[in-house]
Amino acid sequence: MTISQAQEILKTRFGYNDFRMHQQPAIEAVLARRDCLLLMPTGGGKSVCYQIPAMIFDGLTLVISPLIALMKDQVDALRSYGINAGYLNSMQTAAEQVEVFRAVRSGELKLLYVAPERLLQSGDRFLDFLSTITVSLFAIDEAHCISSWGHDFRPEYQRLSVLKREFPGVPLIALTATADDLVREDILRHLSIPDADVFVSSFNRPNIKYTVEPKRDSFYRLLEFLQTRKDESGIVYCLSRASVERVAEDLRAEGYAALPYHAGLERSVREHNQNAFLNDEAKIVVATIAFGMGIDKSNVRFVVHMDLPKNIESYYQETGRAGRDGLPSDALLFYSIADVLKLKGFAEVEGDATQSEVMLRKLDQMAEFGELRTCRRRYLLAYFSEAFEGDCGNCDNCNTEFETFDGTIIAQKALSAAVRTGQVFGTGYLVDLLRGSKSQKMRLEHMNLKTYGVGADISKDDWFSYFKDLTEQRFLLKSSGQYPTLSVTKAGMEVLAGSRKVDLHKLTQVDLRRTAGEAMDFEKDLFEELRRVRMRLADGEDVPPYVIFSDATLIEMAAFLPQDMSEMQKLSGIGAFKLDKYCPAFLEVIKSYSEKNGLGSKIDERRGPVRSAAKAKRKPTAGDTFSTTYNMFREGKSIAEIAKVRGLAVSTIENHLCRFIADGRVRVDEIVEPAKIEAIRKALIELKVENQISPVKEYLGDDFSYGEIRAVMEDLIKEE
Ligand code: ADP
Ligand code: ZN
Repeated sequence: MTISQAQEILKTRFGYNDFRMHQQPAIEAVLARRDCLLLMPTGGGKSVCYQIPAMIFDGLTLVISPLIALMKDQVDALRSYGINAGYLNSMQTAAEQVEVFRAVRSGELKLLYVAPERLLQSGDRFLDFLSTITVSLFAIDEAHCISSWGHDFRPEYQRLSVLKREFPGVPLIALTATADDLVREDILRHLSIPDADVFVSSFNRPNIKYTVEPKRDSFYRLLEFLQTRKDESGIVYCLSRASVERVAEDLRAEGYAALPYHAGLERSVREHNQNAFLNDEAKIVVATIAFGMGIDKSNVRFVVHMDLPKNIESYYQETGRAGRDGLPSDALLFYSIADVLKLKGFAEVEGDATQSEVMLRKLDQMAEFGELRTCRRRYLLAYFSEAFEGDCGNCDNCNTEFETFDGTIIAQKALSAAVRTGQVFGTGYLVDLLRGSKSQKMRLEHMNLKTYGVGADISKDDWFSYFKDLTEQRFLLKSSGQYPTLSVTKAGMEVLAGSRKVDLHKLTQVDLRRTAGEAMDFEKDLFEELRRVRMRLADGEDVPPYVIFSDATLIEMAAFLPQDMSEMQKLSGIGAFKLDKYCPAFLEVIKSYSEKNGLGSKIDERRGPVRSAAKAKRKPTAGDTFSTTYNMFREGKSIAEIAKVRGLAVSTIENHLCRFIADGRVRVDEIVEPAKIEAIRKALIELKVENQISPVKEYLGDDFSYGEIRAVMEDLIKEE
C-alpha cells in the first residue's frame, strides 16, 4: 500500500493529476493505519482522503455522516466514478436495507454511508453486524458536530466513542471544515483518538472575492450585481422568512429563476426548491441560514448576504459555499450599522451572561469586518488564527481607492457633539443627536443644543464611518466596556479650535458588475451546448448534473477544445472511468462546434488549471482578435499570410473574416474564388441545410474549405 497507488487512483478514477493541500499526508497516515484528524476548508477535497484508501483496503470503509439528505448524492457521485458504494438510513424500506446488508456481507461494497443514529440504533445490533465483517476504516464526516463548542452540535455524535472501544484496531479519520482549537480538542477526546495525526490546511479560499457594500438601495444594487451574472448559480441569504419571500418574488418579477427556502415552508416545497437549485433549474435560491448545510453544489458562483450574519464563523461558512470548483466566485455583503444594532438585541441570551458576552463580542468582530478598510481576506484568516502576508488583491478593499477629502467641518460637528454632551455618550447617541433624531432616548436639553440636527444631511452609516475614522486617527478616544463612550483628545481639541485640519475617507461606490478582465476565456456558446449534454446524461441517470462533470471541467472542454479521447483525458476532472462513459457524447459536440467555427484543439495551451491560465494570459477578447484579422486583411495581406503572422490556422482566419460578411465589410468574392462560389451555392441550395457546414463539405470534397463554405453561407443569409 503506497502513495503511488493512491496517486494512480486519483488520476484514473477522479481525473486529477496532483494532490491538494494535506491530501497526500492524510492518505499516507490512513494507509499506515494511523488515526487522523483532517481540517480543510469546504471544497478543499476532504472526501478523497477516505475514498481513495477505501479502494485500496480490502474490507469496508464506513462513512458516518449527519446528512441523510445528502447520502444519495454522495453515493451517486461515487458510482459515477465506477466505485461501488451504498448507504443506510431510516428513510429506506426494510427490503432496501436488507439488500444493503447483503451487498456488504458479500464484499461488493467498498464504502457504506450511515447516519450516527442508524449506526447506534439498538434494534438490529448494527455494531455486532460490523464485527462479523472486515471493516478497514471509519471516516467521521462533519466531525465538529461532536463538540458543544461548535456551531452544529449533535449529541448522538458523542456516542461515537464506542467505535474505538469496540474496534481498537480499525483506523479512524475525522474530517471537518471548522478550525477552532476547542472544537479540535473535543473531537480527539470524544472519539478517543488522542494520538491522532492532525492535518490543518489553509482556510484561504483564493478564488472567492469578498466585497462589502453599504446597505442602501440594496435590492437595486443586487440587480446591478446580477446583471453580469445572468446564467450563474448563487445563494442570496436574508435574515427573516418574510424578506426571503419578498426578495425571491422581486427577483422573479425581474426575470430571474429564483426560489425561496426557509424553515417555514412545507417540507415538500423546501425539498423541491432545493432540488431545483441543485439541478440548475432554479439559478438562485433566496434563503435563511436554514439553507446550505451540506449543500454540495460545486458551481455556486456567488453568495450574497442581504443582512448581516451574526458572527464571522457563519459568514465564512456561508460564503464558503461559493466556488467549490475553484473557479472565480463572489461573496457580497450588504452592511449597515442598523443591522448590528438589531442583532445586538438578539444576542442577549437570557440568564447567561457569559454566553451573551461571547455572542456580542463575535457580533462586534462581524461589524468590524463590515467597516474594515484593509484587506478583508487578511482579517478573515487572522480571525481563524492564520497569518496572511500582504494584501490579497482579490477583495474590494484591495481593489478600491478610498476617496480622501477635507473633512474638517464634519469633524468639528462630530467633536462638538461629544464635547457639548459631556463626553459620556457613545457613537450611536451622538449620531442621533447630529441627525436631529426625535427618538425618546434623546434628552430634552440636548435637543436645544446648536449641534442638534446639524448633520441631518449625512446618512447614519456615513456618520458611523466618520466617527470610526476620527477614532482611528486619534481625534476621539473610545472607552472600553460594553457601552463605550467617546471623549475628545488633545488633537481633537485643536480641530475644534480651528487650528488643525482633518482628512476623512469616503468609499466611492464600486461597480458591482463583473469587469471584462474577470471573465474567463472560453467558448461560451459551446459551454452552453455542453451543459445541455450534461443535463441529458444527468436526467438519464437521475443524478444532479455536477455528478457527471463539474462546471470547471466543462469550461476546460470549452477552452481547450479537445479533439479526441487522449486529449480529453488531459483535462482536470476526467478519469478513465468517466472518460469512457461520458466523453464520447461531449466529444461529438466539441468536434462539430470546432468544425463549424473553424477552430482546432488548444490542448497544448493547457498548463495547470484553466483558472490560472485565464488570469495570466489576459488574451484579447474575441472582438479584438477578429478586428486584428480584419485590419491586416485590409492592409492587403492574404489569408495565408495573416495565418502565418498570427500563428493561427488558415481556417481560423477565414472564420474571422466570415463574421464581416454579414455587415458588408467583407465581400464573399474577396475570400472565395468566383468559380467556387457558384458550386458552393448550388450545393447549399440542393442540400437544403441550414447552418450546417459538415454535410456540404462532405458533398463537395477536399477542394473546398470549411471557411469558403461558411463565407458563401453567410452571404446567402445576408441576401435573404
Ligand atoms: P470537501 O468535502 O472538503 O468540502 P470535496 O471532497 O467535496 O470537498 O471536494 C471538492 C471538489 O474538489 C470535488 O469536486 C472534488 O472532486 C475536487 N477535488 C478533490 N481533490 C482534488 C484534487 N486533488 N485536485 C483537483 N480537484 C480535487
Ligand atoms: Zn484583500
